[in-house]
Amino acid sequence: MSVNLRIPGPTPCPDDVLQAMSRQMINHRGPEFAAIMERITSSLKRAFKTDNDVLTLTSAGTGAIEASVVNTLSPGDRVLVVSIGVFGDRYADIAQTYGANVTKVAFPQGAAADPAVVADALKKDASYKAVTLTHNETSTGVTNDLGALAKAIRGVRPDILILVDAISSLGSVPLPVDEWDLDVVFTGSQKGWMVPPGMAMVSVSERAWKAADEARIPRYYFDYKKAKSYLEKGQTPWTPAVSVYFAMDVALQKLEQEGLENIHARHARLGQFTRDGVKALGLKLLADERVASNTVTAVLVPDGVDGPALNKMMRTEYNTVLAGGQGELTGKIFRIGHLGLVSQEDLQACLDALKQALPRVGFSLVGAAR
Ligand SMILES: *Cc1c(COP(=O)(O)O)cnc(C)c1O
Repeated sequence: MSVNLRIPGPTPCPDDVLQAMSRQMINHRGPEFAAIMERITSSLKRAFKTDNDVLTLTSAGTGAIEASVVNTLSPGDRVLVVSIGVFGDRYADIAQTYGANVTKVAFPQGAAADPAVVADALKKDASYKAVTLTHNETSTGVTNDLGALAKAIRGVRPDILILVDAISSLGSVPLPVDEWDLDVVFTGSQKGWMVPPGMAMVSVSERAWKAADEARIPRYYFDYKKAKSYLEKGQTPWTPAVSVYFAMDVALQKLEQEGLENIHARHARLGQFTRDGVKALGLKLLADERVASNTVTAVLVPDGVDGPALNKMMRTEYNTVLAGGQGELTGKIFRIGHLGLVSQEDLQACLDALKQALPRVGFSLVGAAR
């Protein structure tokens, strides 16, 4: 029996995507690689719904957060970081590390960011150069209303840079970059894209390119301008994770075959299916249901249950790998990933396993289903 890998990245990959990775190496400065770059880039532009430049970086997602900071900001620049969890906080940490002057607007765990509160923060101080947003907060299973946030932000500051961590949302849930006028938007291969870790993909607007001209934070590996100039030749500045590019090439063709709208609908359906199934077991969600994520569900560990012991039993006895909580939520929640290559059967199997495991770690299914 194969493992039911239900973490929010790395996610399972289709067989033909994995097989693409076993191909022999090619010259990353040759015509065959250039053709792959061209196919990947044009497909990603369709997925991002953007005419902006789309760059690919050989990096974890966190490298893409860092890249957005070093390419658009100068030391001392005022940055408003909107945080609803661990990954919002990471954005603040990285910006601070590079000398930005960060103010954080934080919202309670399980809640989404309130556009009116964000707009108020921008009204109080006209000197902000950028605002950072997390589209889907993987640590709490909450999806921000990014369209509404962008609209509220532009209503106060039409010119501000909007930088978006869309690592666990883009590709899986709707995110029309140009319609929402977002400047830097990035994601990672190992989340909804059905590709192993190793590639980050980022869109860069005209406004962001202008900021890059002025930005004085030192940068080298993650320099967007170098990436753009090499992209024009069908290359990357440094040796890319060639095998991951092979995999992305195949995965994007599969995603286009399924159709973006169909993929979004599948994630919406499976997100609801997971939440309904979890509640039917008598468990409670961390997220306010109105803003619950369709790519990852965070479930409160019931009183008296040892969260890590539950995850261990699920892994060792039911072949099901769940994610735990991060940061302050360690031991308080477990998370079920449902993004990328995922079907209702996978989630049903996960719910069935939970139903068997929970009573064995001290949770009464009957008593809790009040
Ligand atoms: C996974 C994730 C990251 C970090 O990605 P890494 O590849 O682990 O660096 C950042 N933000 C969000 C929202 C994520 O889901």
